[in-house]
Amino acid sequence: MERHGAAVKGEMIYEGKAKKVFTTEQPDRVVQYFKDDATAFNAQKRGTIVDKGIVNNRVSERLFRLLEERGIPTHFIERLSDREMLTKRVTIVPIEVIVRNRVAGSLANRLGLKEGAAIDPPIVELYYKNDVLGDPLITDDHVRLLKLADPTILSLMKQQALKINQVLLPFFHDRAMELVDFKVEFGLHAGMLLLADEISPDTCRFWDQKTGESMDKDRFRKDLGKIEEAYQEVLRRVCG
Ligand code: C5P
Repeated sequence: MERHGAAVKGEMIYEGKAKKVFTTEQPDRVVQYFKDDATAFNAQKRGTIVDKGIVNNRVSERLFRLLEERGIPTHFIERLSDREMLTKRVTIVPIEVIVRNRVAGSLANRLGLKEGAAIDPPIVELYYKNDVLGDPLITDDHVRLLKLADPTILSLMKQQALKINQVLLPFFHDRAMELVDFKVEFGLHAGMLLLADEISPDTCRFWDQKTGESMDKDRFRKDLGKIEEAYQEVLRRVCG
């Protein structure tokens, strides 16, 4: 056991591609640890982005605080250290919710649309969180078939995702960043739906408003170089 200000870190209960989760002395709280490991294309591409964990922890803290202020309940409690945050323990709903303001990534590939075209009003997509299946795109009917979430919970998740977009769009615009798209995950805690996981350059696409350059994990996915620099610049603009 290791004391970290407000929490005693216990055993590791989960290790994902970018994060580890530890128990605390309180059963309803966990510590989320942010790693520098980077993966793409369903973990077929692997690497390290130096200090990414520090950036993603701080950026997520800033955005979770902002969203809480705007009435979106999140799992965030407090940041404990450079790479650790204390959160409420949730049962993750195995659905990735993606909101898109511009065409990019898998949407451009799947539908043959032109990268960068505006999507107004924004669209919401659902993906089944399942590594073996490669996180397939699913419909509401598939959610019901697979019993991934109650219809009321699913509807709330989509509503919250769009509300998050409405808060984040102007926030990034003020920092000369275009929020192209992002992915969020939700969890259930004592019957409440909470925004969980992280919101960071790993889970969003940001384009610099002046140059149009990617400032996110696409630099890693597409081998664009200056990956660390881009993450540090996001940190500077969001938390500086
Ligand atoms: O690859 P795709 O275009 O579907 O990604 C849309 C958005 O969701 C991007 O911002 C991407 O970083 C994010 N995403 C994610 N985790 C995944 C899939 C997508 O954070 N497993």
